[in-house]
Amino acid sequence: MDEATRKELTAWLEFYEELGIEGFYRRKPGTAGPAQATPVGVEPRISAAPQAPPAVTVTAKPTSPDFGVRTPDTRRDLRPPAPTFSLFEAAPAPRSGPETLEQIREDLGDCRRCKLAPGRKTIVFGEGNPHAEVVFIGEGPGADEDEQGLPFVGRAGKLLNRMMEAVGLKREDVYICNVVKCRPPGNRTPEKDEVDACSPFLYRQIESIKPRLVCCLGAPAVRTVLGIKEGITKIRGQFYNFGAAKALATVHPAYVLRNPREEKILHEDFEKIRDFLKNP
Ligand code: SF4
Repeated sequence: MDEATRKELTAWLEFYEELGIEGFYRRKPGTAGPAQATPVGVEPRISAAPQAPPAVTVTAKPTSPDFGVRTPDTRRDLRPPAPTFSLFEAAPAPRSGPETLEQIREDLGDCRRCKLAPGRKTIVFGEGNPHAEVVFIGEGPGADEDEQGLPFVGRAGKLLNRMMEAVGLKREDVYICNVVKCRPPGNRTPEKDEVDACSPFLYRQIESIKPRLVCCLGAPAVRTVLGIKEGITKIRGQFYNFGAAKALATVHPAYVLRNPREEKILHEDFEKIRDFLKNP
């Protein structure tokens, strides 16, 4: 390894170590993932590749107890890919069989992996059916969620409940979580380093649940899960391939609260979810 590469690699490793991440694994050549998502039945037209650290070769280290991703290679890959070097790359699994949500929550612990930790009251891990057919993913907890430790319990949550009820979905039958599990200050959008630190746990939750459909509520969820940066109003209502599942992008209920006339588009997208789930 030449000196310049060695320095660059050292800088990246120090950066990730500050985030509490100590283990890195090289992506297997040819591995595909949902960030290469394309609309179902539509020719790819979106550059879905996520921003990633520079291409470097890293020798795998033993699994760190702090690094969350421990899924076996044999399981369905729902993780977004990164070209060469990925925070999300799975380490060899220390557990036999699929992880449970309880195990993932246990690994998360009293997490301090990103700068959102000091400002939170509660980690909002997620709530719902561990075998749900559909997983809803929002952006991050708000004040009510931070207080109660549950996702989507404020005004946006009430709207989400109403949308689900309108198409015959029960809250207890679905799973609801967020891209980041701690409340960003002032309800701002989660920043990249926060998403990078927290999202491996989200991917593990999705892998554990194995839903048929992942519904991304708003742009941050779409960026994180599908790697798509295009505006949510342009891509909403479309289905994307997502491993063995499908993903649907729609607007965040909080957007509809700010723009009540847009409620119809959220309702339209929930009707698509109902129609999708009707088909075996
Ligand atoms: S947002 Fe996620 S990574 Fe950051 S401290 Fe909270 S649980 Fe940990």
